[in-house]
Amino acid sequence: MVDIMRIGIVGAGLGGLLAGALLSKSHEVVVFEKLPFLGGRFTNLEYEGFQLTTGALHMIPHGNDGYLAQALRKAGANVKIVNSEPDGTFLVNEKEYLYKELFSLLGFKEKAKAIALATKLKLGKVDENISFGEFLEDVDLALKVGNAFTGWALSLTAYETPMSEIIEIAKNYHKFGGPGIPIGGCKAVIDEHSRIIKNNNGRIIKEYEVKRIETDEKAYIDDYEFDVVVSNISPVETQKLCNIKFLKSKPKPSKGIKISIATKEGIIKHSGVLFTPECERINGLNQVTNVDKSLAPEGWHLVMTHQTQLTNNIKKEIDLGLEDIENLFKGKDYRILHIQSYRDDWPVNHASNGTDIDNIVNDKLYLVGDGAKGRGGIEVEGIAMGVLKVVEHINNVLNAKTK
Ligand code: AMP
Repeated sequence: MVDIMRIGIVGAGLGGLLAGALLSKSHEVVVFEKLPFLGGRFTNLEYEGFQLTTGALHMIPHGNDGYLAQALRKAGANVKIVNSEPDGTFLVNEKEYLYKELFSLLGFKEKAKAIALATKLKLGKVDENISFGEFLEDVDLALKVGNAFTGWALSLTAYETPMSEIIEIAKNYHKFGGPGIPIGGCKAVIDEHSRIIKNNNGRIIKEYEVKRIETDEKAYIDDYEFDVVVSNISPVETQKLCNIKFLKSKPKPSKGIKISIATKEGIIKHSGVLFTPECERINGLNQVTNVDKSLAPEGWHLVMTHQTQLTNNIKKEIDLGLEDIENLFKGKDYRILHIQSYRDDWPVNHASNGTDIDNIVNDKLYLVGDGAKGRGGIEVEGIAMGVLKVVEHINNVLNAKTK
């Protein structure tokens, strides 16, 4: 039996709500959210009948089998995730190729090098201390493909991505497979969490900005007393509000730009990611309406592109992204719905992969969210890994200590 604890959660993003849904099964949970809506960077944003998002791409990196899907099932969330088929294709010389088919584009020597790299990665026989860019740089196409993948999945260039992260990502990919699309988009996941928290007699207080977190004999969120505080705001913001200083290193955020496009014709035939290694800026795009038509008005498709932010000249980055889109759609009908840039206090990740902060600060204070992802966790998968670690610690380790 787990002793009932009073748990306060700061922030109702995916991490805070997932932690709340899982913890409210055996504890008293109160979630504090600054904004009038729930979900942070993982919810829908309706615009002209299209379900755009506040951040994420209506995609779950390891689909119906990954860490997030497992955590959702554990919480009792009723969310349908449709696995993409295929996971993705790569646009090279205006033709789409599956990952395996890319090898056929290489000359004899490069093909041998590329096969050796792929085998080394599969076996995990790689120097952990180099970057993914350094690992790939001998094969030009591999580096371009690597950049498209890390740009789309992590909002980093291959050179910014530590090989140690790629090794874990590759393991997760072999275990769980590629992405999937949640029916109803990000908001369907968020709605289920808030339903579960309320069903378990938890409370969610909206439009409440937390100003102080204290961890001493007891834990406090402002004047509310708790046994444990879980913070879903960034590690840096958490430390600013907290009476203790716990950050030994500063996480490096990852930044990116998402462009949402309306099109009647559509541009992608499948439900996976179209990676664009030859674009100037765009790393990839998806067309989620191939799986869930409800994400756009009848007769329309919703396409989302993502690009990592390479320079601080946002206007130039957006213009180059728009030029890529013009080349990709060449002659097809399309309309730009929305351009969103993710940086500063609304980044792609508060900690880019490899710079994440440990979830457990002490027995009273825990971090969740994209500043405290598990190793090799792509976006929301990393958030789920962190949440599962926190829940396990609170229910098992902490519970045993207090007995
Ligand atoms: P995300 O950005 O998706 O990880 O979600 C974090 C959530 O925390 C967002 O919904 C923010 O509005 C919320 N948030 C940020 N700072 C505070 C604060 N001081 N008090 C309450 N909620 C906050």
